Parts: sequence; structure tokens; C-alpha cells
Amino acid sequence: MNLILLGAPGAGKGTQAEIICDRLNIPAISTGNIIRAAMKNGTEMGKKAKEYVDAGNLVPDDVVIGIIKERLLEDDCKNGFILDGFPRTIPQAEALDSMGINIDRVISIEVPDNKIVARMSGRRVCAKCGASYHTEYKKSKTEGVCDFCDGELIRRKDDEPDTVLDRLNVYHEQTEPLKDYYAKTGKLRTVEGQEEVADTTKLTLAALGL
Ligand code: ADP
Ligand code: ZN
Repeated sequence: MNLILLGAPGAGKGTQAEIICDRLNIPAISTGNIIRAAMKNGTEMGKKAKEYVDAGNLVPDDVVIGIIKERLLEDDCKNGFILDGFPRTIPQAEALDSMGINIDRVISIEVPDNKIVARMSGRRVCAKCGASYHTEYKKSKTEGVCDFCDGELIRRKDDEPDTVLDRLNVYHEQTEPLKDYYAKTGKLRTVEGQEEVADTTKLTLAALGL
């Protein structure tokens, strides 16, 4: 199954992507994670991306399209994949279409803006391995410490309250039009994001016919 997860920053698409990944045994591909890893490793791409990411803007289409083209060629994508955070613009969706890849379903996780802002303040990531957490919805076993690598849990620079509002605007302007794009092909399903992760998961799986 080839899936796309859409949603505002902080709507919980990353968490759902990981759950579906375990359940269907297909990779979850997060352009955000790939870009953050490149920034941390100081690669050419990471250096180019940093100014956009830190300001809450989108990284240029040609950069992310290049990342996805390479990633989808890898062996583990043969039986399907979950795209988390790609496409985020109409040109990205068109690029995906022109790669000749058939998308089976697009799930849009809907959370109202006022809840997004509150949720984002609780988001944390591991400074060492990049695993994501939430102080309320996805707690680590020990507060402030990563379950996987004992790394320190920090707030992403682009999760600071000022940047969050910019990212929400970017989402409404550039990413939300994708709902129409995929509704026209009959592939879009919307899921109301719930308080409890498990409740959202039930709705997501139902939307996938699972
Ligand atoms: P969130 O989890 O909040 O939705 P991501 O981790 O997916 O955020 O992305 C973080 C940042 O990485 C974005 O704000 C943007 O700057 C960049 N980015 C990620 N995916 C894309 C994309 N498909 N197109 C452009 N920029 C992207
Ligand atoms: Zn870690």
C-alpha cells in the first residue's frame, strides 16, 4: 500500500505514520526527519535547508523532490510506503505523479488551529537520534530522556511558539490545497485527530480499510 499522510504540523501524522509502519511493515518516510538529520550532519543539503526550516518556511521543492526520488528507489519501498510530510505543495504532488507512482490512499489528519498551537508546545525530540515525543500524548519512560538512546529531549527550534504560527500559515496556504487535489482523484479520507493517540489510530486504520 502506498500512502500519504497530510496534516498541519503537530496534528500527529508522524505518530500515525510510525504506527502504520509497524502494523503493515512498510517504511514511514518523513522528509522532516531526513532534512533534520542532514542539518545535524552538516551536509550540503542540510546547510541549504537550515535557513528555511528554522524560519518555519518550506524547503524549496526541487530539494525535497530530489530527496524523495532517491528514497523511493530504495529496496524497502517495494511493497509500499507511508509518506509523512511529503508532498506539501502542489508541485511536489505533481512531481510524485510524474514519477509514475500510484498512490492508494491519502489520509488528512484534521486538528483545529487553536489545538495545534497548544499541542506543539509539548512536542520534544531526542537531540541524539531524533525520535519524537510529546509531554502529554507520547511520553518517554523517563522524563526528558530518550527511550531508545538515553539522549536528551529538547524542543525543536522550529517548534518555538513564534515559528509555529508561521508554519500554520504555510500549511493553510501551500499544503491544504492538496486536500482538493487528492479529493478529485477519490483517494482522500479525512480523520479527526483525537485527544488519545490510540483513538486517532482506530480512525486512521478504519480509513485504510484495516
Ligand atoms: P511537522 O512534523 O511539524 O509537520 P516536519 O518534521 O514534517 O514538520 O518538517 C519540518 C520542516 O522541514 C518543515 O517546516 C519544512 O521546513 C521542512 N520540510 C519537511 N518536509 C517538507 C516538504 N515536503 N517540503 C518542503 N519542506 C519540508
Ligand atoms: Zn534518542
